[in-house]
Amino acid sequence: MNGDRTTSDLTTLATCCPRCEVETSFAPVTVLTDQQSDDLKSLFAGRLNTVHCEACETDFLYETPILYRDDAGRWMVYYLPTTIIERLDDAVVHVEEIYDMVFNDCDQEERPGCRLVTKRNALIEKIAIHQRQLDDRIIEYIKYQLYQNCDDLDTIRHELLLDFGNTTDSQLMFLAFDRDTGKPTYSMAFPAEDYESLSTYFLSTEKMQLELERMFRRYLIQVDDLI
Ligand SMILES: [Zn+2]
Repeated sequence: MNGDRTTSDLTTLATCCPRCEVETSFAPVTVLTDQQSDDLKSLFAGRLNTVHCEACETDFLYETPILYRDDAGRWMVYYLPTTIIERLDDAVVHVEEIYDMVFNDCDQEERPGCRLVTKRNALIEKIAIHQRQLDDRIIEYIKYQLYQNCDDLDTIRHELLLDFGNTTDSQLMFLAFDRDTGKPTYSMAFPAEDYESLSTYFLSTEKMQLELERMFRRYLIQVDDLI
């Protein structure tokens, strides 16, 4: 039932239903890999770590840190929900400490790339970007350009996310979500060849790569720091 995940990966714990406060035992998923396709599908469908309370028939989300790791691709995304660490700066320090501890003995080039996210939609987006072999720094830079150039877009009101499901070889699609309602309001296309031009511009020389890195905080690659 759990794909190729072994039961030893799972720790059962007790959690209380937020509605009726009855205790339910539950085994949260805390590590995701591309081999665990069932868990990834659950994440993308918004069902991962959903607990069902038998007493009042309520489904609720159990929030816990989740690590996505692609060992072959030397890539990881660490999801640290804001319910656990409230301040973003604390989250960055926390990830820095863990990362440096775990990869202390590794050479610089052996160390995996690492991203920190604090929202589930960002976790999903980062995994999708990685799976499509896109560079998330370029994606966030494109979001910045879209905010600058689309009159209808407002950084306070709208959150931009890559619409990976509708992205094709010829164009990247973005969706603007209303931050209040959570509903998608606008859909925007960005030509794939312009993405390639930006990649070449930023990644072809060391100087420009540094420039790109300087735009963001370590591990935390988000358009919010550009606007
Ligand atoms: Zn309940």
